[in-house]
Amino acid sequence: MDFDLFVIGGGSAGVRCARIAAGHGARVGVAEERFWGGTCVNVGCVPKKLLVQAGEYGAWAEDAAGFGWQIKKGPHDWNKLIAAKDKEIGRLNGIYKRLLDNAGATIFESHAAFVDPHTLDVGGKRVTAEHIVIAAGGHPVRLPIPGAELGIISDDAFYLPSLPERVTLLGSGYIAVEFAGIFAGLGAHVDLVYRQPLPLRGFDMDLRESLVEALGAQGISLHPNSHPVKLEADGNERVLTLAEGRVLRSDLVFFATGRAPATKGLGLEKCGVTTNDVGAVVVDRNLRTSQPHIYAMGDVTDRLNLTPVAIAEGHALADTLFGKNPRGISLRNVPTAVFSTPPIATCGLTEEQAAAHGPVDVYVSKFTPMRHTLSGRARRSMLKLVVDQASQKVVGAHMLGEDAPEIMQGLGIAIVMGATKADFDRTIGIHPTAAEEFVTLRTRSRVTGVAKAAE
Ligand code: NDP
Repeated sequence: MDFDLFVIGGGSAGVRCARIAAGHGARVGVAEERFWGGTCVNVGCVPKKLLVQAGEYGAWAEDAAGFGWQIKKGPHDWNKLIAAKDKEIGRLNGIYKRLLDNAGATIFESHAAFVDPHTLDVGGKRVTAEHIVIAAGGHPVRLPIPGAELGIISDDAFYLPSLPERVTLLGSGYIAVEFAGIFAGLGAHVDLVYRQPLPLRGFDMDLRESLVEALGAQGISLHPNSHPVKLEADGNERVLTLAEGRVLRSDLVFFATGRAPATKGLGLEKCGVTTNDVGAVVVDRNLRTSQPHIYAMGDVTDRLNLTPVAIAEGHALADTLFGKNPRGISLRNVPTAVFSTPPIATCGLTEEQAAAHGPVDVYVSKFTPMRHTLSGRARRSMLKLVVDQASQKVVGAHMLGEDAPEIMQGLGIAIVMGATKADFDRTIGIHPTAAEEFVTLRTRSRVTGVAKAAE
């Protein structure tokens, strides 16, 4: 075999796996056809967060007046922002590639596809490997409606030639909610169109309701229970027709309607690797596919499509195969954040999920953050603990408010460790912070899940 390990895809999962395996002494090859660092670094988490921060500066300039500053908010220069973002992303691309080089991995900047279970065609060259990892990622998908090609996807949003004045965003998952905040923060009018009664299906109901309030406070027009049926162009305008009979006109229509695993063109049929009904590679808890020497990780498996999960998977597999340290990772209690404005962060079970297992004590606090008592901005925070009544373990924590992701990372440790409400209560708060609310929630807001438990 040419390699002990060959990794298809140089994104979060693939780079970590290849780098750690090479560090353990394995002969490693890695192929990437588009950009080093994958979605997260190039058209995902990293540039997204820079754009979120760009939007926040505008609000801060306005809020400063409440603190005595006489600041006049000028116009925003979109092209300057994109150029600065591109420079930073270019720097990170280089770092990712160098990490692989320095670890001694052999780099291929081309497409890789299976020829047989141990052989790959990598940019026209045949290579063989003992173990193969599929870490090809995913890509955004448009709704299958007439005229869909007139709309953009998140890959395009990072390279728009100018900031549109009016944006229609379709969907209400992570990407839709984050970009709604970005465009509104930079001064565009945003229509958010989604088929659910509330955005962010799957998240805790209190979070979803608080998000509706926050989106409204940002001036975003919400269109719940709405189903797009066609998209047309009228000169430079985009015209979206909804099944409900309404028509929305804007300068840009953005499909944030989910992502699909990138399994097409990998030649999976030639190596006996099974995919599911959405085209994701099926893996067991050790990341093994239906072929024992072929593994898959990250978004191509379409489980928890989060960068830190992909990185953890890559590292664990490299340690297992080449580091004499067999280990897996747990997908329970994975903290996650939505970088809406203000952001959302969550860890563990929603109230609804926890209540399905038995009685839960629920603690909710809603308040105006200190900063906004002076700024005058209509922005409220919400935080919530979900406590299993029998064990008194905190099984879920949820927050919408400034710094929620920073706060939730630490709280996640407590939840992973199985901390009880009493552990939270005996922790002294840091004053004055929003985070201290998590350790001063004394009055239970309600008990739910009782009826279910009694059945
Ligand atoms: P999501 O799966 O989060 O959301 C997709 C949205 O599109 C939902 O609102 C969904 O509605 C809607 N939708 C899907 N199909 C249809 C349809 N046929 N008609 C109408 N609406 C439809 O996908 P995203 O694209 O937002 O993000 C993809 C994934 O990337 C996320 O799930 C997350 O794992 C990851 N991500 C993580 C981020 C982070 O960690 N901060 C940031 C961005 C992405 P419904 O709810 O009704 O199904």
